[in-house]
Amino acid sequence: NLDIAVLAVGDELLNGEIPDTNTATIGRLLNAGGYRLGEGRTVPDQEETIALALRDLAARHQVVVVTGGLGPTRDDLTARAAARAFDLQLTINDEALTLIRAFFQEHDLEMDPRNEKQALLPQQCLVLPNLRGTAPGFLLEQKQSLLLFFPGVPVEMEAMVEAELLPRLDALSGGHPPLCERILKIFGLSEPKTESLLDGLTLPSGVNIGFGVDFPLVHLKLRATGRAAEDLLDQAEVSVQRRLGDFIVARGRETLPQTVARLLSASGLTLSLAESCTGGLVAAWLTDIPGASAFLDRGAVTYSNQSKNDWLGVSKRMLHDQGAVSETCARAMATGLRQSTRTDITIAVTGIAGPDGGTPDKPVGTVFIALSANDAEQAKGYRFSGSRDQIRKLSACMALEWIRR
Ligand code: ATP
Ligand code: MG
Repeated sequence: NLDIAVLAVGDELLNGEIPDTNTATIGRLLNAGGYRLGEGRTVPDQEETIALALRDLAARHQVVVVTGGLGPTRDDLTARAAARAFDLQLTINDEALTLIRAFFQEHDLEMDPRNEKQALLPQQCLVLPNLRGTAPGFLLEQKQSLLLFFPGVPVEMEAMVEAELLPRLDALSGGHPPLCERILKIFGLSEPKTESLLDGLTLPSGVNIGFGVDFPLVHLKLRATGRAAEDLLDQAEVSVQRRLGDFIVARGRETLPQTVARLLSASGLTLSLAESCTGGLVAAWLTDIPGASAFLDRGAVTYSNQSKNDWLGVSKRMLHDQGAVSETCARAMATGLRQSTRTDITIAVTGIAGPDGGTPDKPVGTVFIALSANDAEQAKGYRFSGSRDQIRKLSACMALEWIRR
């Protein structure tokens, strides 16, 4: 398994001006390619600090990816620091200079003499072309380590990770991804609860398990390395599935809304939504997905009692007697909308997202969901906890979960 580190360079990353998205992007691309980032470090635009970090990371990692500080201004010191770190001369690199000139010509731009500084690189480096900007990257091979220097501009950096980093990693690791990952997305269980349900489970040897949270889902990650990785993960997935069953609501890159969309499209069933406390969140999540028109007929955001009566035919008397946040109201919203739309499935959500509006018998987080379909009518109440945002997300996920099942 290759040991890879990222060094992000820039004052702006440390003073809170700009979040370091480059490290995150590299981590994500590595992960998708079957690799894992072993360490990420951030340093300011200071030659000495950059040089120290470079030496340290190169001594401990097989591959070091550096981003930022290749620009033409005086605060861009990465190339200088690299020369200092490894005792190399800085010279004008003719190949880099040609690439920079060509970039300006191609884009009909006037070249500032300052841009020539971007060709001032450590001796013996290999120039890496930057297809999207002026500053070329470069590569240094040190005794134990390969160092790749990329520009800080996120789109330029990302293009170079694809073009220059990943192919080299594949070559170094013998052509097959050393690490495979399966993600199982879990709804309705906390991280510790998920782990406790897996107590005593023996996974095939070589399979590791990791946990993460993408609220409100828990992500369970199964990882394995080597040639048999996919088979091992298949076996592990079956064992985990036996324990967690229906709590697994999506897999891999697919999100819960995407899973629901795929199932609905395949089934040919149509859907309509009557949303109160989620204010159209379920509809928004589903319509984020291209092709949602294949199954989604409409979503009504009926926030007031008046609208629940006008649009969904919920009786005023019922609203008055039981309140809009009640199982009866959720049921009436679902059946009312389904009658007028003639869709196969209607889901209704009504609840109190807070932070105000709770009462002793209906505290904040009280949410009712109802489903009306050809062969089934059901409604159920929940007590979610969390912030307004969390309660709305929990409600929307639960609504999707009703559709999925
Ligand atoms: P340039 O040729 O634009 O000067 P450069 O290699 O010198 O490129 P920087 O000057 O360090 O890169 O940064 C260029 C731009 O990219 C800046 O807007 C900077 O904020 C942004 N940037 C740099 N590093 C990161 C990072 N790690 N994450 C997100 N943005 C970054
Ligand atoms: Mg910078």
